[in-house]
Amino acid sequence: MITKENQGVWVFAEQRDNQIQPVVFELLAKSKEIASLLNTDVTAILLGKDVNNLANKLVAYGADKVLLTDNPIFRTYNTDAYTIQIAHLLKEHKPEVVFIGATHNGRDLAPRLAAIVDTGLTADCTQLDVDEETSKLLMTRPAFGGNLMATIICPEHNPQMATVRPGVFIPEEEDLSRKGEIIKIDNIVKPEQILVKIVEEIKEKAAAVDITEASVLVAGGRGLGKAEGFDLLQQLADVLDGTLAASRAAVDEAWIGHSHQVGQTGKTVQPDLYIAVGISGAIQHLAGMSNARTIIAINKDPEAAIFKVAHYGIVGDYNLVIPELIKAIKNI
Ligand code: FAD
Repeated sequence: MITKENQGVWVFAEQRDNQIQPVVFELLAKSKEIASLLNTDVTAILLGKDVNNLANKLVAYGADKVLLTDNPIFRTYNTDAYTIQIAHLLKEHKPEVVFIGATHNGRDLAPRLAAIVDTGLTADCTQLDVDEETSKLLMTRPAFGGNLMATIICPEHNPQMATVRPGVFIPEEEDLSRKGEIIKIDNIVKPEQILVKIVEEIKEKAAAVDITEASVLVAGGRGLGKAEGFDLLQQLADVLDGTLAASRAAVDEAWIGHSHQVGQTGKTVQPDLYIAVGISGAIQHLAGMSNARTIIAINKDPEAAIFKVAHYGIVGDYNLVIPELIKAIKNI
């Protein structure tokens, strides 16, 4: 239900091992924009144990208020404990908008909260805006296998809720001079309400490569024609201090591992430089890299869609272009 009290943009400040997840900083930056369009402020919800210092960090990245519950029950994400506590806060404070990162935990939490407070949820959004006329949140996400983008509104219920893909928005610089209000909230969860018990935590082995952290990515696609094409790309990556990435077609060919895949079913990346080699520019690939600061495309087809998003394009066979590029870079 929508009431006059509904106001404020909320962000779930997911922490793991007392580290705020990067998507939270991205969401705080976007929330500031949305909050100013709605004439309201940004509140972060922080649950954890010994996380007082993290509240200041959330303010430094854009939160005007932090609702903080520090209790051992919230040390590690727990479906029941987090759902009960946050649903209580939603019912009591009635925000207008709630954003949750589409992490594994965020995807577990968001639909439960939406059901409890009787509202809708748009999952895995990649764009957010506000409708000028109605002031309703416009939540955009890929639909039909990424073949079109659907913009979804939630006109009759509040809060308007969305989970948001990590890596889509750009966080602001940390500003330690920002001032915000940190409000301590008591834990309302009783141990007997927790049905899911965490028996043991087994950390996943770190991925061989983390393409989301690299500032230079040299990405190869089906146009490489063979696995050895990546050897040449590696030489280019070496002179640029970069990391290899790939389209799904190259991963499907087993020329390179899935941890390198960029796109809708791979990773979303925002490097300073993205060099797309032999990649056509399918929408599912663009979904993962179009926010790169500089994009260079190398493709022998001048009509390839990748040239529409590229800042610089080289039309030619990569076997000829890349050795010339390496030579030129070495001569700088
Ligand atoms: P192609 O489309 O085959 O393009 C190859 C390009 O190489 C062509 O443009 C060609 O001109 C060029 N080329 C050929 N030879 C040379 C040469 N010698 N020198 C230079 N250029 C050359 N794709 C992803 O990448 N990531 C995803 O996460 C992803 N998720 C998907 C999810 C769904 C539900 C679906 C349906 C598809 C998904 N796809 C994804 C697949 C996507 O639709 C495309 O099929 C894929 O991106 C194509 O890869 P490509 O550009 O490497 O190959």
